[in-house]
Amino acid sequence: MKRFVILGAGSSGLIAATMIKRRWKDKVHVSVYYDSRKKNIGVGESTTNIVDQFVRDYLGVTPEQLIRETDTTVKLGINFKNWIEGTEYFHGFSEVGFDLEDEEYSPSMYALMNGTYDGGVLHSKATDIVPNFFFEYEYALHINTKEFGEYIWKNIENEVDFIDDIAEEINSDGKNIQSIKFKNSGEVTADFFIDASGFNSVLLETLNPEWHSILDVLPMDRAIPQQVLYNFEEVPSYTLAEARKHGWIWRIPVGNRFGTGYVYSSRFTTDEEAREDYNAWLEDNLGVSLETDRIIEYKPGYYKKSWIGNCMAIGLSSGFVEPLESTGIHIIIQQMLHFIEHNATLKDLEYNRNQCNNLNKILYEEIVEFICLHYNTNRTDSKFWKHMTENKSDFVRAFDEKCREEFIQASNIDVSKYFWTVDSYIQCAHGLEMFNPDAIKEYVSCLDDPDSILEDCRLLDMEIKKAKGQGRSQKQMFNFIKQ
Ligand SMILES: Cc1cc2nc3c(=O)[nH]c(=O)nc-3n(C[C@H](O)[C@H](O)[C@H](O)COP(=O)(O)OP(=O)(O)OC[C@H]3O[C@@H](n4cnc5c(N)ncnc54)[C@H](O)[C@@H]3O)c2cc1C
Repeated sequence: MKRFVILGAGSSGLIAATMIKRRWKDKVHVSVYYDSRKKNIGVGESTTNIVDQFVRDYLGVTPEQLIRETDTTVKLGINFKNWIEGTEYFHGFSEVGFDLEDEEYSPSMYALMNGTYDGGVLHSKATDIVPNFFFEYEYALHINTKEFGEYIWKNIENEVDFIDDIAEEINSDGKNIQSIKFKNSGEVTADFFIDASGFNSVLLETLNPEWHSILDVLPMDRAIPQQVLYNFEEVPSYTLAEARKHGWIWRIPVGNRFGTGYVYSSRFTTDEEAREDYNAWLEDNLGVSLETDRIIEYKPGYYKKSWIGNCMAIGLSSGFVEPLESTGIHIIIQQMLHFIEHNATLKDLEYNRNQCNNLNKILYEEIVEFICLHYNTNRTDSKFWKHMTENKSDFVRAFDEKCREEFIQASNIDVSKYFWTVDSYIQCAHGLEMFNPDAIKEYVSCLDDPDSILEDCRLLDMEIKKAKGQGRSQKQMFNFIKQ
């Protein structure tokens, strides 16, 4: 039996404990140590569609069950508002039957050429509608992190040891962790340590990890979070990400409240300026004032290797990229899936460790690139936006040129490695006005057999348009499930 010690019982520690225990069952003993005096970060409430895999395969419950028993709501995408002043675009998930991963040429190409593109596959607009059998499609969830954590805890408490104790000293030779000295439990050893201790990376930090800063391309390093009660009448089925003078604001519907927050960079904006702009938004949009004085400070970037020796860092202790694409919990689940996929025997093998570290790097790289794309607005109306426009990443510059001069098709995005499909990139590029119908026409004319490609795209586009808008409001769905 392999003994795992997990340091931390935030979302990372709980998800890791569940996935390890459910994967290796009697072959592992899992202990989770946490400091009950320390508050978990717990502001992240919007997820990606990977959460379905965790809920079904590891928690062993259906999404309907989770919605029935907690304040969870269904998320079909993110609505990006005012990234180009006065405009909105939607980044939604594909649906089964219209999953475009296998299609070389997207129906969007046809629609864009003909001026009939309306923002994506089935979920292309910000509404409160949820497809009737949403759980058969691709969807994500808005969760109350605290409640979700308690739900996971209850689900695994008979299989995992939870110990409220403080790690005071880490014994490490710089290559492996030998033991952790806890305040009450004394010295604890293990075959494998998971660092889920949050921003301080308590375990990994003792193994001399190399940090990869992303400050140059994504300088946001602060967030002010505030919850706002609201009337549960028209629950949106999307997360709102609204651009502001100094950054952007999230608004996430969970139960009877919105989680909201202002993300900005201390390089260009003082806390007072951010608070003032946030307060104005809260008053204009939700009729409340800013009441919190909480500010979350973070270091944007990630460790080049999150698995060193017998210790793997996950979640915040492995890095943090601003939450524009709701990727915090996504990263945790994906890191654990990589670990599970590459360590069937749990033998300590260098090759497997390298594989996981490479995949982790790709995971972070894609998230950084995709988030950078949303900042390709050419805005210059504040110090912050001027900086973003003058300091585009190499990826954004090249992608922008490719969109303006040609088009993006499936084989241009390496979906075998990457999470988002080509349609996500198209939705974002269209929303930020990167496409040029004449350039697409010219591009299509240079393809082999353009007529039959266009005909296939036209047929698929028709099918998608027919299926659009079907479903019921989130509230009706909610009542139906709760009955
Ligand atoms: C501004 C912001 C917005 C976010 N938005 C989203 C979002 O929309 N969607 C999303 O998916 N994610 C989001 N996230 C990320 C998400 O909040 C985190 O990924 C998630 O909460 C996981 O945190 P964690 O468990 O890694 O760390 P934490 O929640 O910080 O947990 C750390 C744990 O380690 C324990 N610990 C630390 N030191 C010790 C010690 N010495 N001894 C014992 N125990 C110790 C603590 O007690 C705690 O249990 C956001 C994060 C931020 C900062």
